[in-house]
Amino acid sequence: MTTSLVTGGAGFLGSHLCDELLLRGHRVICVDNLETGSLANIEHIRGPEFLHINCDIISPYFVDEPVDFVYHLASPASPIDYLRLPLQTLKVGSHGTHHTLGLAKAHRARFLLASTSEVYGDPQVHPQPESYWGHVNPIGPRGVYDEAKRYAEALTMAYHRQQGVDTAIVRIFNTYGARMRPYDGRAIPTFLRQALQDRPITVFGDGSQTRSFTYVSDLVRGLIALADSGYHYPVNVGNPNEFTLLELAQQVIEVTGSRSEIVYEALPTDDPQVRQPDITLAREILEWEPEVGLADGLRKTIADAGAEALIGVGTR
Ligand code: NAD
Repeated sequence: MTTSLVTGGAGFLGSHLCDELLLRGHRVICVDNLETGSLANIEHIRGPEFLHINCDIISPYFVDEPVDFVYHLASPASPIDYLRLPLQTLKVGSHGTHHTLGLAKAHRARFLLASTSEVYGDPQVHPQPESYWGHVNPIGPRGVYDEAKRYAEALTMAYHRQQGVDTAIVRIFNTYGARMRPYDGRAIPTFLRQALQDRPITVFGDGSQTRSFTYVSDLVRGLIALADSGYHYPVNVGNPNEFTLLELAQQVIEVTGSRSEIVYEALPTDDPQVRQPDITLAREILEWEPEVGLADGLRKTIADAGAEALIGVGTR
């Protein structure tokens, strides 16, 4: 039986990845200290093929059984979390990635780093291909996350080149679906929470900044396809359909049938103006394409999560 270890497996993306790997017949070891994830995300998983190890990967950790794949997702990921945890964010990207790469090396496992479109910063090239080196402010408040991920990418390539570890790097673009936290500060969970309560929808700036949004099942399929490939360089996985934040707010209002109005708030520091993946490489190497459009994905999110969870009943 194939064994996959998922760091951050009790988080939003990690828990969906654990579900899919179990469906595909893997044994799954989830390593997560629940810093930003929760047991609620994995409580539906039962059975001997799933193990949760509660540990902080900033310290060295070991697993006493064979491991074939290591999916390294653990990291604070939403601005609210990494602004609250700046030093931990840097340490997860550095120490945590070192320890997890060391574990992959010891087990001769294929290692996949969950990197991010944030390595492109406020991009001067549009859409962003993997060959673009980015435009990141290292000393701004978001620098702790962007630079932690850029360091983790450099470390991953060093373990590959110098230590012979079989590595892969995925640059994930904004992803949404059930199990997002209603108060994590990202656009889709915020807009859904506000719309479902008929409260004003808060758009930053004039709402003309663009994002592309990937539905979680498409993302998870991309991660597994990349892990199953032999490719070592970064690959963008994201939906190239690009929307302004204002269009997103209008789409959320339409899908939820909400009476919310749109209000405008100040732009956060270093908020990127545009964001759109060039997915030529993913198409060529992984034969991967996103399948779920925004309106369908929003409907699926509401159906899977339920309005109460999206509003945050009992979580605040
Ligand atoms: P999340 O916060 O829901 O999940 C992260 C998980 O990592 C949590 O369960 C948390 O408890 C765990 N974790 C954090 N620090 C840890 C530590 N020191 N030791 C052990 N576990 C730790 O975030 P997510 O949205 O699921 O993101 C998962 C990964 O994907 C992150 O690496 C993130 O950078 C990357 N990513 C996500 C998105 C997105 O749109 N969701 C976009 C780009 C990249």
